[in-house]
Amino acid sequence: MFKYISRHGVSVRKVNILMVIIAGFISIALFVAMQYTSHLFSETLTLTRQMVGWSRSAYDMQDASDYLTEQIRSFVVSGDRLYLDNYFEEANVTMRREKALKNLSEYHGKNDAYNSLAGAMTESVSLMDLEYHAAKLAAIGYGYDESELPEEVRNVSLSSSELLLSDSEKRSKAEELLFGESYRHQKDLIADHMQSCLSQLSSSLEDEQNAIFEQLERQVFLEHLLTFLLIGVMLVIVAFVSSQVLVPLKQAVDFVRRDQDIPLTGAYELRFLEKNYNVMYQMNREKKEKLVYEASHDKLTGLYNRRGYEFLLDNLDIETSAILMVDLDKFKDVNDTFGHDIGDKVIIRVANSLRKNFGEEAYICRLGGDEFVVIMLKTGKKDRDTIEKKVGRINERLQRKKNEVPPVSISVGVTFGQMGKTMESIFKEADIALYQAKDRGRSGICFYREA
Ligand code: GH3
Ligand code: MG
Repeated sequence: MFKYISRHGVSVRKVNILMVIIAGFISIALFVAMQYTSHLFSETLTLTRQMVGWSRSAYDMQDASDYLTEQIRSFVVSGDRLYLDNYFEEANVTMRREKALKNLSEYHGKNDAYNSLAGAMTESVSLMDLEYHAAKLAAIGYGYDESELPEEVRNVSLSSSELLLSDSEKRSKAEELLFGESYRHQKDLIADHMQSCLSQLSSSLEDEQNAIFEQLERQVFLEHLLTFLLIGVMLVIVAFVSSQVLVPLKQAVDFVRRDQDIPLTGAYELRFLEKNYNVMYQMNREKKEKLVYEASHDKLTGLYNRRGYEFLLDNLDIETSAILMVDLDKFKDVNDTFGHDIGDKVIIRVANSLRKNFGEEAYICRLGGDEFVVIMLKTGKKDRDTIEKKVGRINERLQRKKNEVPPVSISVGVTFGQMGKTMESIFKEADIALYQAKDRGRSGICFYREA
């Protein structure tokens, strides 16, 4: 795997697709998880609100029952008709108890809490018989006409012993019924049912809330996990982009600026570009080198041409150099006698001879036609003999016929570089020396003499 990566690089396109898919999946999962979490929150909220409503139903039942007790007791104690009317208004019109029961059954179902509230209702209803009875006794005791009384009170039939009681005794009896032990016991039962309804409601709320909280806990864990995964994917992307694209790209720019081949690094696509750049760069460089070579070298002999010679002169340390001006003797005759092609071969032979004898410590140039220049480096007047011997050796060799190349000779004019001399003056001196050599009968060497 790593071998593969290091050789070919990882494809940015493939990694990009993979990362987009992974990040997409994680994002969708995170979104769904968050939706579900908010659903659970709203469920908790609804549950709490419902619980408040149901508890209010239970309290309504208690309040209504207490209100009925209060009104009927007030009537019995004061004989004020208003209290009796309030009592029946609550019992038959407002009917808070019935509504509370209905509310609980509608939204919470007929469960234990409902049964407890229904028990309270039953107790409360059964208590009403006692209250009607007390109301009838009190009403008669206060001298109300029976026809004025509500139907429920009117329908109560008093016992014969009760009928025999005086008005004040009837009122006392009525008070006894509503404030006595049995009535209070009944009221306690209602309160007990109510309490049990409330505690059942609160325990069922607790159960449901616990279940939701457990789910919420799992959801939060899942969301954390997904968030970390998403962060992880992002870090992987950042690391990948920087190690496989940005760093290699910066490196590539540096190599291009330094005019060098780019080492193959980074992602697959980048390597592709780097490879192609290197091929083009190489081709370009070879072309340039070829052009430079062709511009500075002579085609026939491979020696420096006039341009190459001028370039060399520009970068030359004159004081430690010697200039040898070389010209073939009677070369025109060679051309005329043997033809131009043979003439070319003669030129090549002379070039090779010069190269062989001076090559290592000198630049050898063909300025044109049969004219050559040898620039000897680190050379001074002490080297005269050596130069003379070399030229002698060359002429000795050139005198020997080689295949179809006829024997020829060269004349050489030499001058040494010195402080204060210019290139032009040196060239001139060498030229003068050459003509002296020609004058002396050719096939020889002449050193330029000052004065
Ligand atoms: P001298 O001894 O005085 O130098 O006599 P020469 O005949 O060599 O006279 P010169 O140097 O002036 O003649 C150069 C001749 O070189 C003239 C031309 O015909 C010949 N030549 C110039 N370039 C080439 C070339 O590329 N190939 C051939 N074959 N001949 C060339
Ligand atoms: Mg010549």
